[in-house]
Amino acid sequence: KPVAIVCVGMAGSGKTTFMQRINSHLHSKRDPPYVINLDPAVRNVPFESNIDIRDSLNYKEVMKEYNLGPNGGILTSLNIFSTKIDQIINILEKRTAPNPETPKAKPIRNIIVDTPGQIEVFVWSASGSILLDSLASSFPTVIAYIIDTPRTSSTSTFMSNMLYACSILYKTKLPMILVFNKTDVRDAEFAKEWMTDFESFQAALRAEEASGNGGGSGYMGTLLNSMSLMLEEFYKHLSVVGVSSMTGQGVDDFFSAVKEKAQVFQRDYQPELDKRR
Ligand code: GDP
Ligand code: MG
Repeated sequence: KPVAIVCVGMAGSGKTTFMQRINSHLHSKRDPPYVINLDPAVRNVPFESNIDIRDSLNYKEVMKEYNLGPNGGILTSLNIFSTKIDQIINILEKRTAPNPETPKAKPIRNIIVDTPGQIEVFVWSASGSILLDSLASSFPTVIAYIIDTPRTSSTSTFMSNMLYACSILYKTKLPMILVFNKTDVRDAEFAKEWMTDFESFQAALRAEEASGNGGGSGYMGTLLNSMSLMLEEFYKHLSVVGVSSMTGQGVDDFFSAVKEKAQVFQRDYQPELDKRR
């Protein structure tokens, strides 16, 4: 069965650009994915999608019809779309199964999913849960949490981002890959180091405190300290990759992580899902 890769992340972290990159990467390997866009408000999708929420819904019309603002329009569009999830899963099952009429055609091995710019619309909404749960009950599903690396280089923004990732892991209960994006602007080594070596994070905290421009001083310092200890446990469950969606650097590492997490899904998550049925 193909693996479903769901891209989530803060607005501007680079989800759509990352989608474009992994899509063209898979095409160049003659392994084209099945592509789904769930962002009703995106103007231009820089890749061809097989299923696009915008084909069936115009979020501006939804805004007018239900007298909503932009966020309400996006959320309501997602709600309406989620009522058709059975049809979508049917299409996916059909399209990704080997076709007896074209036995030589390669089976689809990846389903890639882009989500709305505003992360909470997807991760914290009922329809987002419905969409994710349905996907995960049909395909091994992994979350790619996209991070804007250059904007995560202070200890406090880094910590906030990790806590958010932690809450998503807890909420979705799916295997997760942290994708440190935009490494063409800022290398992700610092992040990998902070996640594996507590001392180095401590040192960064002290350095920020000394320079007086970080959140590392006083009560914040103590808080960050305790949180980073707590997060050590969380980090153990993650794969971490540095990627540039701009240049393509790191994309192979990402797909290695997907392979690993798809196995984790089958080993740890599948039995849980089967039990719930
Ligand atoms: P989304 O809201 O998460 O879908 O983010 P977008 O994919 O729309 O990207 C937001 C901005 O970040 C755009 O201006 C992109 O060109 C830029 N961006 C995305 N990935 C990269 C990257 O790897 N490197 C650089 N330098 N910019 C990137
Ligand atoms: Mg986007």
